[in-house]
Amino acid sequence: MLPGSLMRAWRNRKTHTIWDRALAGIAGSSPAARTNKTEDSASTTKQQLQNVKSLSLYLTQCIALCIKIIMPSKHRKDPHNLSKSETVKRIPAACADELAAVEFFESLRWGSEPCCTKCGSVNVYQMKDAVTGERNKRFLWRCHDCKEQYTVRIGTVYEESRLPMKHWAYAFWRACTSKKGVSALEIQRHCQISYKSALFLMNRIRFAMAPDLPTAEPLQGVVEVDETYVGGKPRFQGWAKGKKWVDGRTNKAQRKTAVFAAVERGGQIRRQVVADVTGKTLKAAIRQCVDPRAAIMSDENSAYTGIGEEFDGGHTTVKHRIKQYARGTANKNTAESSFALVKRGIIGTYHNVSKEYLHRYLWQFDFCWNTRKMNDGERTIAAIKAAGGKRLMYSDATAPHA
Ligand SMILES: [Zn+2]
Repeated sequence: MLPGSLMRAWRNRKTHTIWDRALAGIAGSSPAARTNKTEDSASTTKQQLQNVKSLSLYLTQCIALCIKIIMPSKHRKDPHNLSKSETVKRIPAACADELAAVEFFESLRWGSEPCCTKCGSVNVYQMKDAVTGERNKRFLWRCHDCKEQYTVRIGTVYEESRLPMKHWAYAFWRACTSKKGVSALEIQRHCQISYKSALFLMNRIRFAMAPDLPTAEPLQGVVEVDETYVGGKPRFQGWAKGKKWVDGRTNKAQRKTAVFAAVERGGQIRRQVVADVTGKTLKAAIRQCVDPRAAIMSDENSAYTGIGEEFDGGHTTVKHRIKQYARGTANKNTAESSFALVKRGIIGTYHNVSKEYLHRYLWQFDFCWNTRKMNDGERTIAAIKAAGGKRLMYSDATAPHA
């Protein structure tokens, strides 16, 4: 039994409307037919073109229909529709109203069964205002078992924060949905809060996005490693004032911050700020995050020489010196692509990131890379859930390397 659309196409074919017109047009284009025709040649040519177009369209539709029938349904339907998310529909309301924001965070944290943050009991209730009967101004909950009062903020990066939850919702949303990040100045303007508050809010969100390195799975399979320099002033080479020759390229390591990246092909990424790009430093960074059974791929940087002996998959290099960027499956283009996103974000959004705080921005870029197969709503939920069980005190947040 043929599907309905194919049946309709077959019936149309039997009426010979498209086929006959097209075939008549093709036949009319032959020299013998042309001699028998008395109509105007220009209008005939136009008709022929239309017929051929109709035939092409008909054939294209037939081919598309055949592909649709033959291809398995799991390939036809995108399991991760990156453009649609139910969560994203709720976020604008959460960003505008404090009660909606609190309920948004509560539903993400507890689902339909709120529980006590101290003893885990589900025998809890919302505290109400004695006069109005509405929810308590601080959105408190109380546990019947341990008598503890608590809010959704307890035990998260936004605990003890005086900022309204609607600003947290907005900042999480922007941080998770902006491909190249969002600056604290932008959050300051949009939420009408001080720059200091906006910066601290963003720092806490980046802290929430930080990988849990002790429990993180090591990178496996094919792992591309690379290093780059971030930041610093533009390099200058030429005669400076006083006829002194300046070569800005020679002190790159002093002007810029070195960043190392290891990317599992088709998988996760780990980036970190490194003190230098010597073999000792880079090899230690690889050993820290890559599984010993993996295969390492890099450029011809001599710092990586000998690392293949420590990994079952060995070490393959591509020679950029002779403009070789891929040799079969050997390349490190994924790692270079990941650096491109970081650099676009720093140049276009953050403008200037000091060496002491660069690692936090790398956490954010890594989080977005590792959750790239999620849609915006799923990524926002993942970040908010990652905020649980983490605390960042103000003194820590302003200290280097925190
Ligand atoms: Zn309790």
